Amino acid sequence: MKEQLETLKAMGMDRHLVSSEIREGKFLVNGKPYLNLSSNDYLGISSRLDWQTEFLESLPKTTYLMGATSSRLLTGSSQCKADLEQEIGTAYAKSCLLYNSGYHANLGILPAITQKDDLVLADKLIHASIIDGLRTASCNWLRFRHNDLNHLERLLIQNYAIHKRIIVAVESLYSMDGDWVDLVALVQLKKKYGFEIYLDEAHAVGVVGPTGLGLAEQLGLLPEIDYLVGTLSKALASEGGFVLCNPDAHAYLINTSRSLIFTTAGSPITTLWSLFIFRKMRTMHAERQQLHNISEAFRNQFAHHNNLGSSQIVPLNYTEVSTCLRAVEALRQKGFWVSAIRYPTVPKDQPRIRFSFTPSVTSDDITQIYETLLGTQNEQ
Ligand code: PMP
Repeated sequence: MKEQLETLKAMGMDRHLVSSEIREGKFLVNGKPYLNLSSNDYLGISSRLDWQTEFLESLPKTTYLMGATSSRLLTGSSQCKADLEQEIGTAYAKSCLLYNSGYHANLGILPAITQKDDLVLADKLIHASIIDGLRTASCNWLRFRHNDLNHLERLLIQNYAIHKRIIVAVESLYSMDGDWVDLVALVQLKKKYGFEIYLDEAHAVGVVGPTGLGLAEQLGLLPEIDYLVGTLSKALASEGGFVLCNPDAHAYLINTSRSLIFTTAGSPITTLWSLFIFRKMRTMHAERQQLHNISEAFRNQFAHHNNLGSSQIVPLNYTEVSTCLRAVEALRQKGFWVSAIRYPTVPKDQPRIRFSFTPSVTSDDITQIYETLLGTQNEQ
């Protein structure tokens, strides 16, 4: 381990935990304030002290709200879990099942719902949690080139007759590239070939859709999605994952999904916060608009760069890890907290700074970031 850590360090690939906190609305690392451009707090909810206070004051004083102390199949499934599932399920007009995180959901759904004759076709850039799920599944699985639906169609044609059942797994918004799946075209393919769609909306929930439910809501395609996975941990600034599916699949998952069954249920206080904030999130239209405006302003400022995506996540690609790390350092010195994304999260030759916006970012911030990065280029 020591040797391998040394090797990672020599390549500039070693990783460290960052100790941060939010105090009085300010994001601090080692006590120093930064503008956080590295979180998934897309609506700025994590620093809404007013809502945190309102929530804490609303809590019942005589109910135990901390550890659930057992799995959901034993005694860990308190009423608040059912309330949250009801709320989310009603919003999407599907059956909702909560997991402890989006990771748990993706880890436990595909292995539970597939058999050895089934085939999953997954986008090349699909999240690690779905890959980890597929690794434990008995089904076959293949990957198609990122967002290349022609490649997907070729794989469908080749495999259509061999497999009883095919599931196509995609994300609505890819978090390292900031680009969207073409869901309309995917649904057209579904109509032609009759597969099921597994859609991970982790980075789209809260961000798009008339009531913030994500890309499928935005495009009016919710009925076409067989398994829609979301997380409460990003735009909603809480914890937990969920899946929306039909009532049979819901009941089946309760009986077979190992990452649901073999873990202690999340704490009631967190579930209550999720419920409180899910309701607020649906009405946060002004924040959604501001998020889109500021992300677009950033992309316009950096229009000479390639592959900026088209969302609140904007990657700036570098060819060398060392240049990328220098740029990160310069931005941190100016008070912008950004992170270098490196291999194995992204390909070896594509290190990048991943800017992730919140509605509180201003156009002055963007100008300052631009000038700082220009400065690091001139130093080379
Ligand atoms: N899906 C995607 C696409 C993600 O980016 C993530 C988190 N990075 C997850 C699922 C896991 O969600 P959670 O953080 O709730 O475990």
